[in-house]
Amino acid sequence: MPSEFALIDAIARRAAARADVVLGIGDDAAILAMPEGRQLVVAMDTLNAGVHFPDDTAPADIGWKALAVNLSDLAAMGAQPAWCTLSLSLPDSDAGWVDGFLNGFLALAALHDVALVGGDTTRGPLSVCVTAHGFVAPDGALRRDGARVGDDVWVTGALGDAAGALVQWRSGGDRDPALRARLERPAPRVAAGLALAPLANAAIDVSDGLLADLGHICAASGVGAQVELDALPKSPALAAAFDHVRRRALQCSGGDDYELCFTAARRHREALLAIVGNGDLEMTRIGRIVPGSGVVAFDGDGNPWQPPQRGFDHFAG
Ligand code: ADP
Ligand code: MG
Repeated sequence: MPSEFALIDAIARRAAARADVVLGIGDDAAILAMPEGRQLVVAMDTLNAGVHFPDDTAPADIGWKALAVNLSDLAAMGAQPAWCTLSLSLPDSDAGWVDGFLNGFLALAALHDVALVGGDTTRGPLSVCVTAHGFVAPDGALRRDGARVGDDVWVTGALGDAAGALVQWRSGGDRDPALRARLERPAPRVAAGLALAPLANAAIDVSDGLLADLGHICAASGVGAQVELDALPKSPALAAAFDHVRRRALQCSGGDDYELCFTAARRHREALLAIVGNGDLEMTRIGRIVPGSGVVAFDGDGNPWQPPQRGFDHFAG
């Protein structure tokens, strides 16, 4: 079995460079050069085997997702990603597993020009902790506390796909490849976050479920929100695989989609739709910010509707 140092060497050999990495993997710490006039945005997320991914998940998918969830947090801040660090806890020193993991991790890093600049390697239950670092213009970040009464509520892409894949996986039946890809290889909405930053008032990435995550915006901003269930975007794959009732629950409370939910003043509607016209990512207006607190979802007849489960909470129950 390779030593800890051989594993780190193998990681260092594959990590790509960036001009602003003064000193990368190999010393006691990395040295990074901040661009002039930018604020540093830092996010950290951990994936634990059996909690965040099934034990038999392919190492490359774990690698991809470990970075994706962090880039999604930067996207939700409207930040430009630059660097990341990687803490790996491994049950044993498995060079093949690390290689597979890096295939996914570094493929996504390359897509976003993110340099792996350091980390830690220890023995223990399989767990992956990543930090991601990005830049914003001074006070240009998209925060949760900026929503204002009268704002529209928007969401990127489609909702419920990842949770739909999980339901299919648990029931052991046919697994739709399009849904599965959304669970295993989520695409962080980095370009959307950058494009939105000048227009939106508040944003969050949908990792725990739309209603729960929009609830965090409302709580931080001291406002309420109303959501139109019939407006929620759905993929063709989700519509084909689940009936109306189950689909609605997945769209409202399914986690792991990593879309961006954001609020913006009505006067920005056209500018936001122009962003859609320029890219391949849809953005859908799903509701509005109102006085008060909490999120209420309305069905097509204007009746309030409660999902069977609001969102995911690691410490619930
Ligand atoms: P120390 O004992 O000083 O913490 P380590 O042996 O943990 O040093 O790390 C040596 C170098 O390798 C450091 O630059 C560290 O950032 C890097 N490193 C360790 N593990 C990883 C990893 N999983 N991914 C990327 N870099 C790593
Ligand atoms: Mg260390």
